[in-house]
Amino acid sequence: GLAELGAHWIHGPSPGNPIFRLATRYGLLGPAAAREENQRAEAGGHPPLPSVTYGSSGRVLSPQAVSKAHELFDALLASARTFWGAGEPPAPSVGQYLRAQIAPRVPTLGGGREDARRLQLAVLAACVKLECCISGTHSLDLVALQPFGEYVSLPGLDCTFPGGYGSLPDRLLSALPAGTVLLNKAVRTIRWRGSFHEDGDLGRAFPVRVECEDGDAFLADHVIVTVPLGFLKERHQDFFQPPLPRRKAEAIRRLGFGTNNKIFLEFERPFWEPQQQLLELVWEDESPLEEPSTDLEATWFKKLVGFVVLQPPEQHGHVLCGFIAGKESEYMETLSDAEVLGTMTRVLRMLTGIAAAPLTPTP
Ligand SMILES: Cc1cc2nc3c(=O)[nH]c(=O)nc-3n(C[C@H](O)[C@H](O)[C@H](O)COP(=O)(O)OP(=O)(O)OC[C@H]3O[C@@H](n4cnc5c(N)ncnc54)[C@H](O)[C@@H]3O)c2cc1C
Repeated sequence: GLAELGAHWIHGPSPGNPIFRLATRYGLLGPAAAREENQRAEAGGHPPLPSVTYGSSGRVLSPQAVSKAHELFDALLASARTFWGAGEPPAPSVGQYLRAQIAPRVPTLGGGREDARRLQLAVLAACVKLECCISGTHSLDLVALQPFGEYVSLPGLDCTFPGGYGSLPDRLLSALPAGTVLLNKAVRTIRWRGSFHEDGDLGRAFPVRVECEDGDAFLADHVIVTVPLGFLKERHQDFFQPPLPRRKAEAIRRLGFGTNNKIFLEFERPFWEPQQQLLELVWEDESPLEEPSTDLEATWFKKLVGFVVLQPPEQHGHVLCGFIAGKESEYMETLSDAEVLGTMTRVLRMLTGIAAAPLTPTP
């Protein structure tokens, strides 16, 4: 089996996607990804997978009711993308905009029947959590509405690397002379706008000197810095000497990125049907119009969106990959594997209603 800790899919695998082009050129993808109809499919960033939705009352929810809520959410999200490049948006954040759109629709949701209305709201709350994973945020209230439409989803049905995402950098590395890429080489300081010389060679001056934690240093004409935003937030003042211009420092301060985690659960035997590739979880008492609980210890697991079934099972075994974003995801990082495993087992037993299921997950 192969568990991708980070990136797993090529999103929008079509000729406009440079990762897809490289992977295709190197022959790293399976035959399905190479099919033209696969590359042309417009999935809008949400590839349709055969799914089953479990509710917190321990039952499978009506696929019709679930897709009705999904359709509404997709339409609202599409409308949230129309403010890019337009004038003043009607709300500052995507979260506020969605609530303002959902609230007046509440009386007619689910045909106006109380239980059906509650279910529609609960599924909408689950849609919001999925969108938090996709946008890498704790809350859609932290995602600005106006530029939301700037993110363009390329066509193509998401595909994976049969040999793992690492097969791409491995292939790129194999074309470079040995020693070109240095791993485990933390940079301490980037000195720029200077005039640096190699020892004993005053003939050539370099404007940049990259100093590493282990004492090594490299001179350069230019550097391309791709350290994570979180690192820049903490360290940009002393990482760059002289410090970055105000405009860039301000951009680093204002930008944000939340925490995203995966939970892998391996089973001896699947409790899902062979055709099911997505197991969604819905907490039936939730609503996108209500503030989520801040008691992370008691409720962190409710932020879990659901699980993707890793494909193909012949390669991976029976493995579910769950997704969880935000502060709940950060809280989960403080727990031991055994604690996460215990909670996941409880949640799955409660939502699937399969008390005697062979749930023997190993995170
Ligand atoms: C759970 C999860 C699932 C994801 N799934 C997908 C997916 O399916 N498909 C997809 O396309 N994307 C996915 N992503 C997003 C994708 O992983 C990121 O967009 C991508 O890794 C960003 O690449 P990067 O090079 O910008 O940053 P990073 O991958 O974060 O690389 C930054 C590098 O900088 C190094 N570094 C930090 N400080 C220093 C220093 N001082 N000196 C030297 N090096 C330093 C770090 O060690 C790291 O290697 C996922 C992300 C997560 C967290």
